Amino acid sequence: MKNLFYLAILLSLSVTSLAQNEEREYDYMFFENSILPGNYFYSSVNYSEENYVKNSKGKLPVCEKEFFTPPNSLELDYSNGAGNWEAVIQFERIRGNDFFKKSDHLSFWMFNENTKSELLPNVTLSRQRKQRRSDVIISDERSETISIKIYITDKVKNGWKFVKIPLTDFGKFEGLPNNIVFSNSNSKGVGRILIDQMELLPEVSSTPVPVPKKIITEGFELHVDIRWNQLENENVKYVKVYRSEDNKIFKPVGIQRPYFNCFTDFTGDFNKTYYYNISFVDYQYNETEYSKVSKVTTRKMNDQELLDMVQEASFRYYWEGAEPHSGLARENIPGRKNMIASGASGFGIMAIIVGVERGFINREQAIERMLKINSFLESCDKYHGAVSHFIDGPSGKTEPFFGDRDNGGDLVETSFLFQGLLAARQFFDKENEDENKIRESITKLWEAVEWNWYDREKEGKFLTWHWSPDKAWLIDHKLIGWNETMITYILAMASPTYPIDVSMYYNGWASQEERAVKYRKAWGKTDDGSFYTNGNYYHGIKLPVGVANGGPLFFVHYSYMGLNPHKLTDRYTNYFDNNKNIALINWRYCFENPKNYKGMSDTFWGLTASDGPWGYNAIEPKIERDNGTLAPTGALASFPYTPKQSMAALKNMYRKHGKYLWGEYGFKDAVNLEENWHARIYMGLNQAPVTVMIENYRTGLIWNLFMKNEEIMKVCEKLSNK
Ligand code: CA
Repeated sequence: MKNLFYLAILLSLSVTSLAQNEEREYDYMFFENSILPGNYFYSSVNYSEENYVKNSKGKLPVCEKEFFTPPNSLELDYSNGAGNWEAVIQFERIRGNDFFKKSDHLSFWMFNENTKSELLPNVTLSRQRKQRRSDVIISDERSETISIKIYITDKVKNGWKFVKIPLTDFGKFEGLPNNIVFSNSNSKGVGRILIDQMELLPEVSSTPVPVPKKIITEGFELHVDIRWNQLENENVKYVKVYRSEDNKIFKPVGIQRPYFNCFTDFTGDFNKTYYYNISFVDYQYNETEYSKVSKVTTRKMNDQELLDMVQEASFRYYWEGAEPHSGLARENIPGRKNMIASGASGFGIMAIIVGVERGFINREQAIERMLKINSFLESCDKYHGAVSHFIDGPSGKTEPFFGDRDNGGDLVETSFLFQGLLAARQFFDKENEDENKIRESITKLWEAVEWNWYDREKEGKFLTWHWSPDKAWLIDHKLIGWNETMITYILAMASPTYPIDVSMYYNGWASQEERAVKYRKAWGKTDDGSFYTNGNYYHGIKLPVGVANGGPLFFVHYSYMGLNPHKLTDRYTNYFDNNKNIALINWRYCFENPKNYKGMSDTFWGLTASDGPWGYNAIEPKIERDNGTLAPTGALASFPYTPKQSMAALKNMYRKHGKYLWGEYGFKDAVNLEENWHARIYMGLNQAPVTVMIENYRTGLIWNLFMKNEEIMKVCEKLSNK
């Protein structure tokens, strides 16, 4: 019986590793650190009769005083008696982290001051299924329950003991657990232990890992970046970072995954000097010698320096974080290593141009990158010239990450990509072999997109989002505004080779026929704006075009990173004015904060689409669409519309919330302080809008470049004359 479980794990892992043998296999981690102090979002406790488990809002407390890996551990403080208690540590499912290292035991580090052995808890594996985007449990399969006391090994470090339980000892349990359940050991009394680094681990022998040498540190206002040479050693589990204020006593401040080459230490003080060194940790938690020490001082920064800092950090997502075969952007980091997201890649190209102008990289570096990007795009899968949403970097083949139906061309992602490429065609304007080649390649790709093919009915009305060779128009999602897809119509109208007629703007995108009205009502769950035009006031601000309350803020970002909304006026409105009003409505909503969510305010605002406690979701400034999740890109990519409110948000998010919000690529994707939840990822769609829209606010650079394309200006002029 016991071997069944092991076999099931082996089978599930070998199938996935065959199909995707190049994908990164992540550690199957239940707990390493909580990003936020307080309680741990991915936990729950319950108890009955005489039992109790210390908790905060039904979740386990995070302990910052003692930890095995910095900066924290989980506290399990309980009373055993008649009845039972349970403390559940949930597996945190991270987008695109879906291949795992083969494992054969559950392990964790335990700190136990004086709990008697018989009072140490029992442990059970469980696999729960929950309703989508909710905490409602549908089913809960469980393994046998075993006592942890017999699994404490001789391995001890700084008072922490290593606990290692073979998975076969849990009896029949097929597949991977998503919960670890601690419970009453049936012996009366009280106990308190700390738990850290709880995970499924492979059996590995100790393999020598290199000793880190030099590190580079750079001080900013309230944080320090610590960098090392990119590691290509899969026996290194973590990079451990130490800080000292006197160059004598070094304290561990954090751990980093080896696929990053930077750690961000938010110290919270300026004009202060620190010393850093690092070590490497292997899969048996052996630690190497330390690197050389690097000294660094933080400094007060003015507004312009803060803007540079935020722009550069987000730019790095597309520069250092790029998929290496294509030079294009990943969907999210950490996530699928090989998977490119097309739309995010177009945004990334615009961020790279900003990078040259701001001196983050030089022009030659950007040329080299663009040549790589173009050569990849010339040969990757295309569908009547359009690219798919996700592409596998090593092979250039479509990656149907959203399921089998989404295995062909995606016209919206294609338009986001070409927004970037057309800006690049104007930026690389020098007469030399490389830059000529860049322009020619972009023109060739641009002229190959059959925009009018995606007018499925050939009625001159709606563009259709997806098409694939074997599924044809199965998804059949019509592009109907108001939303993020205006750029798709603009580019389709501007195409020099396969254009749609300009009349499709009013017959499709802004259509007022029944089909379009129904579509808007179904998505917006309201009649407001169902005729494209709106005309109502929200929080005292008039909204000429758009859904009620303006919708999520990415509606005013994604299409307008290149397309200058100042230059676009149709029958109904000017789109700079309209976008500005949408941003202001969003800001006033967050200031009012009608659901009284923790953290939301006039300096922490900007509801948009992002990762969240219940997965990726579009959050809107409406009671029924607001769950308290805040994404920094919301306020920061709105800089051209709301410079004062966006600057106030930048300062607040960095200075007051930077400890957990700021990282390797700038602000992390999202936070929900009400739930004490924090994203571990950065998203390709959300980082570049920060860099690019701040630049549009500062100099108009990307707007000017994109609008230099004559075919685009002509379309904007035609629309303005209608
Ligand atoms: Ca820890």
